[in-house]
Amino acid sequence: MDFRLTEEQDALVRMVREFADREVRPVAAENDRKARFPADLVRRMGELGLMGIEVDVEYGGSGLDPVSYVLAMEEISAACASTGVIMSVNNSLVCDPLVKFASEEQKKRFLVPLASGEKLGCFMLSEPEAGTDAAAQRTTAVRDGDHYVVNGTKNWITNGPQADYGILFTMTDKSKAHKGITAFIVDMNAPGVRRGPKDDKLGIRASHSCQVFFEEHRVPVEQRLGEEGQGFKIAMATLDCGR
Ligand SMILES: Cc1cc2nc3c(=O)[nH]c(=O)nc-3n(C[C@H](O)[C@H](O)[C@H](O)COP(=O)(O)OP(=O)(O)OC[C@H]3O[C@@H](n4cnc5c(N)ncnc54)[C@H](O)[C@@H]3O)c2cc1C
Repeated sequence: MDFRLTEEQDALVRMVREFADREVRPVAAENDRKARFPADLVRRMGELGLMGIEVDVEYGGSGLDPVSYVLAMEEISAACASTGVIMSVNNSLVCDPLVKFASEEQKKRFLVPLASGEKLGCFMLSEPEAGTDAAAQRTTAVRDGDHYVVNGTKNWITNGPQADYGILFTMTDKSKAHKGITAFIVDMNAPGVRRGPKDDKLGIRASHSCQVFFEEHRVPVEQRLGEEGQGFKIAMATLDCGR
């Protein structure tokens, strides 16, 4: 078996390492101390094609392979763990489920801006009473005509304070337990979506997380990701890939 990097992977490592050395590492300690979100670096990572590394070029990404994604993550994270986390959530927890489960129309509307770095995404699965046991979702989505009405609280949402769009997991049929979970793509600035203050963390402080509250939030049916009841499968497939 040949474990050497391809020429393309080698060139990517050199490009990302140079960017990390020149722009990320010099501000990492201060950003961490001040818990300052590196907005400029996130914008630069978008310009360099690092926010949707494995997403096809036609959907705003770089069209590279999983090894390239890991190599780029290593370089960024070695310079600044926070910047690595911000990048990793957008790539693996947001773009990846959209690549696998979104409709063509959803890809054009949400994946293109997220993968190109024009917009930032978050992944909203955890709740105050649903951490390791992700199937214990209490956030509900009740169908009302061509919308669902969402109520509930999500916890520890990385990129939550800054995100434009989020992948949201809800319970649409409690009687079916984990088979009653349904996923949505949510506009984080829509009415009925409220973000709490950023969490005060002990480390990786430049990557922000917060609680997100859904209060009678109306999400259109066309923003449902996959079918009703497919949410748990989408969540687990996404986390497998992220891990
Ligand atoms: C910095 C940070 C960022 C995060 N970002 C996100 C995010 O972007 N999106 C998101 O959805 N979530 C996010 N999370 C939430 C994270 O996924 C949860 O913290 C995690 O799932 C664990 O849940 P919990 O904290 O409720 O711990 P618990 O589920 O209460 O677990 C506490 C401890 O008990 C152990 N445990 C639990 N159940 C069992 C069992 N049955 N048997 C044996 N041991 C058990 C666990 O291993 C753990 O050690 C984030 C968390 C942190 C700290």
